[in-house]
Parts: sequence; C-alpha cells; structure tokens
Amino acid sequence: MILSWFRRNQREFGFIRAAWLLWRVSWRRARVVASNRLLPARCECPCCGWRGRRFFDYIEMGYTARNIACPGCDSHSRHRALFLWLKNSYRLAARTGVALILAPERALAPLWSGAKQLRSFKIDIEAGRGVDVLAIPDRRAAIGAAFERAAPGDLVLLAGKGHEPTILYADHALPWDEAAVARETLSAMGWVDSR
Ligand SMILES: [Zn+2]
Repeated sequence: MILSWFRRNQREFGFIRAAWLLWRVSWRRARVVASNRLLPARCECPCCGWRGRRFFDYIEMGYTARNIACPGCDSHSRHRALFLWLKNSYRLAARTGVALILAPERALAPLWSGAKQLRSFKIDIEAGRGVDVLAIPDRRAAIGAAFERAAPGDLVLLAGKGHEPTILYADHALPWDEAAVARETLSAMGWVDSR
C-alpha cells in the first residue's frame, strides 16, 4: 500500500519530491508511535476506543493536517464527529426504518450494525468496502458485474433503460440497446442464446 502510494507520488511529482514526502511521513509516524508509547494518553477515539497521546498526521504533497488519523481504526476528525453526532444527537441506535449509506466508512460500521431496528444498505463504487449495493458508473460494466454475481436460479433485472435508445450524458448522447448489450455480455461469458 505504501509502495503504490509512493509510486503514485513519484509519477505525479518526480522521485526527489516523492522520496522527501515518504521520509516526512515515516519520520512523523515514528514520532507519533514513540509519543504514544512513552507519554500519558490524552486522546480517545469514539469509533474504536483507541486511547493514546495523539493521532497520526495526515500528510500528502503540499498538505499536512496534524493529529488526525486514529492508529486504531484510521478514522479522521470528520468521521469521529459524525460518529458522535449519529450516536448522541441523532440517536441512531433507537432509529427505525431504512438507511441508505453512500460511501460507508469503516470507522462508522459498529454504529450502523448496532442500530438493530434499522434496515441499512451500503452503496459504494468499491466492492472492498463490504457493500450491499455496488455502484458502477459504466452501464456495460455494471451489467457484466451483475451477471457475474448471479447464481443458478437468480433473476437479473436490468431496469430503466430497456425502452431508451440512448444514454444521455452532460455533453453527448451514447446510442444504447440494452437487450443487445445484455446478449453480447452473456455471449462473451460463454452463454448461448437458445431461442
Ligand atoms: Zn479509532
């Protein structure tokens, strides 16, 4: 992970600046780890319960925010603020109904799973976030992903585009035939149209 982060910075800013940034991040991190070992705690993370002297700094090229990322759950200040608001002001645990969670943050997961009377659905463009609904902006790719996930006996419903000959974007219209795309996708996966 640190390697891909370094490579991304190297591509964008060159080796010397990327190496300097890596040195700064490593040095600051080591300093925070040492102070958490040696000095009495004065911070507590409401999301995961971690206690220590200080949080990690958040450092990117040209941007430093000190005392931000929790060593326990990697939550940032905004996540911890939202956690406390959802828990204490909004009283999430007592809420009923349906919750649609867009871009679910890992640090907030215990809060959502603790709301037992709430039916919640997590949506994101990254499958790795433990989502219930995967949002894929490219429609052809989304159709393929739905077919790949279908098990025998499942029904895949492609909704909303069957009768429309185009997909309208801000600056252009893409000609579209949903049934043809579905057939092409299935045939690329090895299925044969038996009609
Ligand atoms: Zn935490």
